[in-house]
Amino acid sequence: MAERYYAVAKSYMLYRQRHTEDREIRDKLNFLMDYCEASNAASGSKYDSNANVENKNMATLIGELPKSNFIRLNRRLLTDRLKEMYGREISDKYIELLNSHFIYKNDETSLANYCASITMYPWLISGTLSIGGNSTKPTNLKSFCGGFTNMVFMVSSMLSGACATPEFLMYLNYFIGLEYGKEYYLNSDKQADLSLKKRTIDKVITDCFEQIVYSINQPTGARNFQAVFWNISYYDRFYFESLFGEFVFPDGSRPDWDSLNWLQKRFMKWFNQERTRAVLTFPVETMALLTENGDAKDTEYGDFTAEMYAEGHSFFTYMSDNADSLSSCCRLRNEITDNGFSYTLGAGGVSTGSKSVLTINLNRCIQKAAKEGTHYLFFLEEVIDLAHKAQLAYNENLKYMQSKGMLPLFDAGYINLSRQYLTIGVNGLVEAAEYLGIEITDNPAYADFTGRVLGLIETYNKKYRSKDVMFNCEMIPAENVGVKHAKWDREAGYHVSRDCYNSYFYVVEDSSLNIVDKFRLHGRKYIEHLTGGSALHLNLDEHLSKTQYRQLLRVATQEGCNYFTFNIPNTVCNDCQHIDKRNLKVCPVCQSENLDYLTRVIGYMKRVSNFSRPRQHEAARRHYGKLGITN
Ligand SMILES: [Zn+2]
Repeated sequence: MAERYYAVAKSYMLYRQRHTEDREIRDKLNFLMDYCEASNAASGSKYDSNANVENKNMATLIGELPKSNFIRLNRRLLTDRLKEMYGREISDKYIELLNSHFIYKNDETSLANYCASITMYPWLISGTLSIGGNSTKPTNLKSFCGGFTNMVFMVSSMLSGACATPEFLMYLNYFIGLEYGKEYYLNSDKQADLSLKKRTIDKVITDCFEQIVYSINQPTGARNFQAVFWNISYYDRFYFESLFGEFVFPDGSRPDWDSLNWLQKRFMKWFNQERTRAVLTFPVETMALLTENGDAKDTEYGDFTAEMYAEGHSFFTYMSDNADSLSSCCRLRNEITDNGFSYTLGAGGVSTGSKSVLTINLNRCIQKAAKEGTHYLFFLEEVIDLAHKAQLAYNENLKYMQSKGMLPLFDAGYINLSRQYLTIGVNGLVEAAEYLGIEITDNPAYADFTGRVLGLIETYNKKYRSKDVMFNCEMIPAENVGVKHAKWDREAGYHVSRDCYNSYFYVVEDSSLNIVDKFRLHGRKYIEHLTGGSALHLNLDEHLSKTQYRQLLRVATQEGCNYFTFNIPNTVCNDCQHIDKRNLKVCPVCQSENLDYLTRVIGYMKRVSNFSRPRQHEAARRHYGKLGITN
């Protein structure tokens, strides 16, 4: 008898499982067909439309298909841990807030921790052996260039976000010095070798740039046919001394500022030129400037930064009156732990980064509280508290992974686990303020609102901080999430005033604000509690002069805006492939009007036609301002 029931039950279970499998296969099949039909990879991707993939093809499709399974797996890993740490109620609450879009877990489609600014010292000592590779340490310029590329690919395959190599030019400078002498930069026009090509030292150096930059911009199988997200930094003399003043190479020598100074400028000039030949997204560059008395302290670098902007180069500038805020180097300094700057696009010191980002949809949280007649801070506090618990659970899972030998980057010393942040992201801040009837300009009500909301997050960041866990708060770029939040909130009946939530403290389509207003809205009054930063993207219609940019650096310093870039759309001709730094309506070479534009989606330059559909609409509405001040 029992046996017969068992047989029936078993066949029913098999039937159910077959049905589940059928449904999964049907869903995947539908997804596959939709993806093949989509106009580009960003629009086709259901989960991750900020992926820096230019084309859709078999390799990108292979990367898309398992994403829904990864999301389920990640949720299970996290809720199991939450249950263990805080009980079932908290775990259920996490899923509830996630499903109703009050919070958003970034990069749920990947298992790897988020982004890191690495130190390459372990590679200099022992090659890639310690992280599972097979190459020995670099010993000359040639092995540095080849090995560096491989190392960045390896490191990136174990991260889901950016890989920053802030020591890149310093190490390159060291190996050029080994090859051609420490004063090579004084002889850069001399012939380098006896080859028939008669290359000069300068040509050898730019060939190294070319080899590395073009190799790293290749799409890679390990990252779903995306290029690795690579960042580098330039430093003025004071930052350099603060970061690397005590640095010693394995042979006992010290980094040399004079030659590095030359090499930094050479690389930047070369990269700016090269970008008129090819669409090169990476590296994303950050110029780090120390400020004093309302201006760049190193005037040589203040001038050079303005010069590069005037020549049409596109890069970020980080300015701080405290060099320590960026110098999160391996020799731990106590004073920096409060102010360490680590933006997930990759700006930051050495050995820093973000393990995981969990974003709070402020607009939805605040509207829900208002609907229920409570003060918005009450509900927000609940959400913030839960976000911290979820991040701590994530951190425990990461520690588990490390204990099982799954994180060689940490074990080998490329990344220092205790110098990595757990990041609380925010999105929909402007939209929430608008809903409360606050004007989005520099005014006391708006300053008060941002101070309360972001201050509350900072309070919790401090509350949950411990000896080995640090939190920061970032206004995330939200290339992808900003669109999703607007859509979900509208569907749920919330007030939504635009199709993509702002990633700035101002309304991106507002044409009444001038440049100074925008610097002020990203200045000290507003970014005070954003320990993980926010990047101001100043959209300009046309390039400014060196004098004008130089003046804007002073404005940024005086307003206390620490991280910004200027964004002038570059023109790409679809007919003759000409790339022009200017924002043009007609190709200057072939007079074609079949043009595309390169602009920063958020962090990196990309063709507008390769943005996801909703982002293309947002880009079209951006207000590209004229300079509102005179030089
Ligand atoms: Zn043309």
